[in-house]
Amino acid sequence: MSIWYPYQQMKHLPEPHKIINAEGMYLYTEDNKMIDSISSWWCMIHGYKHPVLNAAIKEQTDKFAHVMLAGLTHEPVQKLAAKLEEWLPGDLNHCFFSDSGSVAVEVSLKIALQYYLNRGETNRTMVMSLTNAYHGDTFKAMEVSDDEDYHFVMKAYGPSKNVVHVPTNVPALEEAFVKYHAQLNAFIVEPLLQGAGGMLMYDISYLKRARELCDQYDVLLIFDEVATGFGRTGNRFVADLVQPDILVLGKGLTGGYIGHAVTVASDRVYAGFYDDNPNHALMHGPTFMGNALACSVALKSIQLFDEEHYLDKIHHIEAITKREMAGFSDPRVKEVRIMGGCMCIEVYDPATLEGFKEFAYKHGVFSRPFSKYMYTMVPYIIQEPGLVHIYDTMKLWFKKH
Ligand SMILES: *Cc1c(COP(=O)(O)O)cnc(C)c1O
Repeated sequence: MSIWYPYQQMKHLPEPHKIINAEGMYLYTEDNKMIDSISSWWCMIHGYKHPVLNAAIKEQTDKFAHVMLAGLTHEPVQKLAAKLEEWLPGDLNHCFFSDSGSVAVEVSLKIALQYYLNRGETNRTMVMSLTNAYHGDTFKAMEVSDDEDYHFVMKAYGPSKNVVHVPTNVPALEEAFVKYHAQLNAFIVEPLLQGAGGMLMYDISYLKRARELCDQYDVLLIFDEVATGFGRTGNRFVADLVQPDILVLGKGLTGGYIGHAVTVASDRVYAGFYDDNPNHALMHGPTFMGNALACSVALKSIQLFDEEHYLDKIHHIEAITKREMAGFSDPRVKEVRIMGGCMCIEVYDPATLEGFKEFAYKHGVFSRPFSKYMYTMVPYIIQEPGLVHIYDTMKLWFKKH
């Protein structure tokens, strides 16, 4: 075996299902067809093999697949930046592209640190983040995250001097700001929905208060919407409700076609770099930033999102989900959480979910529960029968086991 698979003790690796085709909400193996209930790690928002996205990428491939973005530029990246500038709320106008969500998070944290250094404030070296946060698997992203299931290796360094975690309750947040504000450059959050930390959901009032506190103490507010962006919470972006200073997008950006991400800065943040001093420049440049295939497909993905009224589709998904889960209960279940295009059944004991993945496979559903969480992050093109089938399969598991 030469492939080193993710999040997995390779010695105990169960045989992965080999996919030979994928279309719409379905994944195909040699002898099975299954609904992808988690959109390939939450990114395939339009499902597979979308004709419009396929056409966009083929057309660009025939022109050129990639050119570097230093000293060169091209139409797909210019068009995507212009679209994002117009489409994103408020003055989130300045797009720095990169190849993955983790890197885009790194860039956001580097911008926040340097923003204050450029002003000569050398004491603002700390970042505040949430308990149970997940911001990616690169090192600074791991440091601001708070999830030992993914990042226990970080324990080798001991407690971080550069990061403080706060829970999602307002009094604790206010207290942390009073205590740490002079050292903080940024407060980074997964807004409303914490994904890999366990599909934890919290109220918008927390983010409104965070915005006020960041303004009061001159701390930058970063929204990591790598998972929540493009409709997942039932909002286009949570940034439409509360505006951050820096917004990070990934996963759904390209409709799941190619790894690409963007860190978007407000006018004020951008102005903190824009002057005559060469040392105030942002010294960062991923090889594949602004990749032409990624930008072409991202543009079309955004167009589909608007023209085909995806927010209506997502609200419909949420309504069906609430209806289908309404009567469900089981003594082993701690809580059922629903928000937009996400549903999570949290159990008390991870052992309750052992074997579900194979059970779902046999019932024509691809699912990948982790820890205490059985969840869905469906592609938005899913129709009612597909959704109902996923929830029936989940309910059947609790009935039969
Ligand atoms: C997935 C995820 C990331 C990391 O994105 P990658 O493209 O896997 O590097 C960062 N933040 C959040 C909230 C995520 O869900």
